Amino acid sequence: MPSGKKNDENNRAKQRSPPSSSQKKKYNQKKSAPRPSLAEQRRKRAPIFQHEHVKANIFEEENGDDYLCLLCPGFSFAFKNIRKHLVSKGHVQNADDDPDFLPLYANLLSKGASIDSKLEAKRDKESFLAFIQLCVALNLSTRQISKLAKGLKTLFQGFKLGFLIKANFEESSIASRIDCFGKYYLEKLKAELANTKYSSSIDNAKISNKNVCGVKVRFLKDYPKSQATQVPKIELESKVIGVKYLSQRSDGETLLKVLDEKVFSLDKLIKKNLVGITSDGASAMVGPVCGVISLLKKELSGQYLFSLQDPCHLINLVIKNSLHLLPDEIQDFIDSRHHHFLSPQRTAGSKLKLKQ
Ligand SMILES: [Zn+2]
Repeated sequence: MPSGKKNDENNRAKQRSPPSSSQKKKYNQKKSAPRPSLAEQRRKRAPIFQHEHVKANIFEEENGDDYLCLLCPGFSFAFKNIRKHLVSKGHVQNADDDPDFLPLYANLLSKGASIDSKLEAKRDKESFLAFIQLCVALNLSTRQISKLAKGLKTLFQGFKLGFLIKANFEESSIASRIDCFGKYYLEKLKAELANTKYSSSIDNAKISNKNVCGVKVRFLKDYPKSQATQVPKIELESKVIGVKYLSQRSDGETLLKVLDEKVFSLDKLIKKNLVGITSDGASAMVGPVCGVISLLKKELSGQYLFSLQDPCHLINLVIKNSLHLLPDEIQDFIDSRHHHFLSPQRTAGSKLKLKQ
């Protein structure tokens, strides 16, 4: 601390601590009042009043409810707050000259700390277990619990957990917020795709007897230097932009309509920024006449468009089809292993065992 600042503080401390003789006399008169109340007598017998520093400086106010400190004019406090006042920054500065104060101060600090820290540790342990119990009851995996807790910790450190008291958390209001998230992310994505070159991947899948088409987009995103990003960086973003139920048809023409509806219709600049498309090798995708990629290339006549049959997807299909050649027992064994590791808890448990 610069010496000037320290001197200022000392001066202020001296200004605040004039144990004036008239005040002292008044308090001494009060102290020796002939008939103190029972409550007052009880308080005076309290261990804290056995200490010389307290006897000399802390006095009951005339209203009988509050206490005053001779060293800190202008401060009054209830009996239960005497300890708090004695260890306050202001009082510690003002009591600097009193040799009786230092041992009392050390005593108060160690007592307070041990009681507070024991209580606090017990409460923390209980809250931690209650949190884990809630997460397990919700069937969250250890990984999800860890991510949730770390997210809450970040919010807590930024003093941003006040919403827990204020929000009602009704299911309907949560659902409406989630809908807003979808719209918000789509708006953000729309702005990004209108400003940057991107590639898209498209695929069909049968889910619960329904034919579903999913479209993803990928692009490079700049993260300039900011408070959250200390070093500027470029990252590959990969986002689902649309999912569409297909009714009867899933041919190239239908898929082109899906691309139009879910991607190109968002902004007229978006179609111009498409530079790549990837799919599996199905004829609806790569058919030379009616496949979605051929139709798209025709529509974008002259615009550069790189098309690729996704190698990972192809390898996946090759393995899937080759498995049919294996004996049934091996297929059953692979299926049972797959189902075993579908459970996030089991996967996390196995990882833990492997680490140990
Ligand atoms: Zn004081």
